[in-house]
Amino acid sequence: MKTIDIRKVRRDFPNLRVKVHGKPLVYFDNAATTFKPRPVIEAVAGYYQEYTSNVHRGIHELSEKATAAYEGARDKVQQFLNARGSKEIIFTRGTTESINLVAYSYGRHFLKSGDEILISEMEHHSNIVPWQMLCEEKGCVLKVIPFNDQGELSYEEFEKLLTAKTRLLSIVYISNSLGTVNPVKKMIKAAHGRGALVLVDAAQAVSHRAIDVQDLDCDFLAFSGHKLFGPTGTGVLYGKAQLLDAMPPFHGGGDMISSVTFQKTTYAALPYKFEAGTPHVAGVIGLGAAVDYVLSVGFNAIEGYEQKLLEYGTKALSAVPGLKLIGTAKEKVSILSFVLPNAHAHDIGTLVNDEGVAIRTGHHCTQPVMKHFGVPATSRASLTFYNTAEEIDALVKALRKVREVFS
Ligand code: PMP
Repeated sequence: MKTIDIRKVRRDFPNLRVKVHGKPLVYFDNAATTFKPRPVIEAVAGYYQEYTSNVHRGIHELSEKATAAYEGARDKVQQFLNARGSKEIIFTRGTTESINLVAYSYGRHFLKSGDEILISEMEHHSNIVPWQMLCEEKGCVLKVIPFNDQGELSYEEFEKLLTAKTRLLSIVYISNSLGTVNPVKKMIKAAHGRGALVLVDAAQAVSHRAIDVQDLDCDFLAFSGHKLFGPTGTGVLYGKAQLLDAMPPFHGGGDMISSVTFQKTTYAALPYKFEAGTPHVAGVIGLGAAVDYVLSVGFNAIEGYEQKLLEYGTKALSAVPGLKLIGTAKEKVSILSFVLPNAHAHDIGTLVNDEGVAIRTGHHCTQPVMKHFGVPATSRASLTFYNTAEEIDALVKALRKVREVFS
């Protein structure tokens, strides 16, 4: 079985060499965005240095090269997700835009007053607000699956909330503020049994787990390139071809048409129907390189390594007096949210930053999760496969200092 060669992996990420306040940086904000390995940086720079040009438009050498690289990245993502075809891969600006695309195009065209949309209490705001906006406009009803104090969804409640009126289940695969891994495959099967479609928010899942959309049988799946070691401003919407085909375009403009007259415009075939205007060519090429990179490390190795880090981190943080972990699901990834008595999360963040440790503090765009636990904010250390147990020790040491300040 493949394992992580941590020295090699760390050499691949130039950003890890940065010092903060004269101390080696410990980067534990990977759920917000990940660092980029050298092949991704080189792929983006290579495009700008050697073949900058627009895609699908010119027949000149550079444009052909850029188009081949851009479409090559689509094929890589298709294989990465095991989609049936590359026309099922739509490039977007990120998870947020992918979800909005479905809400606007599918939601406004196919849903009507009284239809129910099911989400969960642990969704990121980007999987709440677009549906609320849709409900306001179309009179649909938003239903919410609760979770327990470990941060695990109540499957019983889910089954109760799933009714003949449910038209869409939009569910997060892995929670960004709790680390919980939801049983999405089982939920998809149950939702389909009731005739509902399912959108999976895989923003966090994509860097922790191999994803097979045919095995999951989800109807839509969204992720962001920047959380998969790729460039910011890139993202993917996977959708089953027959659904995407039936959906109207989201944005109108260049590249998404077949023909335009003032009397009538016809639209391009998939996937171009959903990619109006000049896309983020460099970013998408970088995303293709990120997919190659992650696969070269291998998800077996990533999962095994991260699970050990999670166990080590859970023990080490729990040993800090007074520290309470928020999110202790049986099935979880290396995301450690916590609170410390008498210390506000922002103060914790500032003090550990003085020690060179980067964590995230706040509500993590999941205010309902904060409400559930009765806290305004948490501190969150989110780890990936380039992090180490020594870095966790550095965080714990910094937290002990925080305790001294606040006790
Ligand atoms: N869903 C989840 C679970 C996330 O963690 C995030 C980003 N924190 C998003 C959606 C939104 O992603 P983006 O900001 O890249 O669109």
